[in-house]
Amino acid sequence: MTIEYDLHSHSTASDGTLAPAELVQRAHAAGVQVLALTDHDTTDGIAGARTKAEELGLQLIPGVEVSVNWHSQTVHVLGLNIDPHCRVLQPGLQRLQAARDWRAEEIGRRLHKAGIAGAFEGASALARGRIVSRTHFARFLVEQGHARNVRKVFQHYLVHGKPGHVAGEWASLEEALDWITQAGGMAVIAHPARYRMTARKLSRLIGEFRELGGIGLEVVSGSHTRENINTMGALARTEGLLASRGSDYHGPENPWVQLGSMAELPAGCSPVWESDAWPVH
Ligand code: AMP
Ligand code: MN
Ligand code: MN
Ligand code: MN
Repeated sequence: MTIEYDLHSHSTASDGTLAPAELVQRAHAAGVQVLALTDHDTTDGIAGARTKAEELGLQLIPGVEVSVNWHSQTVHVLGLNIDPHCRVLQPGLQRLQAARDWRAEEIGRRLHKAGIAGAFEGASALARGRIVSRTHFARFLVEQGHARNVRKVFQHYLVHGKPGHVAGEWASLEEALDWITQAGGMAVIAHPARYRMTARKLSRLIGEFRELGGIGLEVVSGSHTRENINTMGALARTEGLLASRGSDYHGPENPWVQLGSMAELPAGCSPVWESDAWPVH
């Protein structure tokens, strides 16, 4: 029997809408046997997820999705099977959390200038004292009737060149890899097709990433098309990276992304879970 792996998901510890225990419950109900909780720049959801996972007999992989600045682009690097108590990882993540707090205030100021009041307070209230992400701003703006859906808010307010865009001051690629590897984790480049890099640039990213100890590429992602999967599968093979598979689930509000029900890895890819470094086989 094949094991159902979903190695990328979010809870209310960052911008997901399900509490860690609810997320695990839902993953289990969806037939996921191995789930990685990979919240943005925080490991705060892991304890709650772990308790529920033990109760249900689901294998929880403690993870994180680290925000990185690389050549004036934001890149996300997953750390799989990290030790959340690592003394190198935690101060690093705390720095990114402080950068998020600053950025959230700045986004609030910019939106205020663009005629939208109370966005910082609104987004912070939705984040309930946890990580504030652009997703929280997007949800608040939808609630206030400024746009029809979250995607439209990003398009009109939050992306580069729009009034509420503020570049994040994230980790360098080197820092992210250092934190993840020192925490005993495996580093994987998240949703590579999302960056819309030229093949040349992506290959440069992969080269630097590998040199710094990175081992994997997320070939199957909830945001990848069939074509993206094939391209990234071929790239993982030629670049000698292991292949990962994750939904990038954020909650039931996005019905087009479900836990566990993604495509299989293309033939010829070496899955991260078959590597010697993987915790349980
Ligand atoms: P942040 O890390 O605060 O910059 O927020 C990034 C998050 O926003 C991502 O992890 C996604 O969950 C979400 N996001 C980014 N772009 C879009 C988009 N175009 N539509 C909907 N959600 C998006
Ligand atoms: Mn997100
Ligand atoms: Mn991401
Ligand atoms: Mn994600």
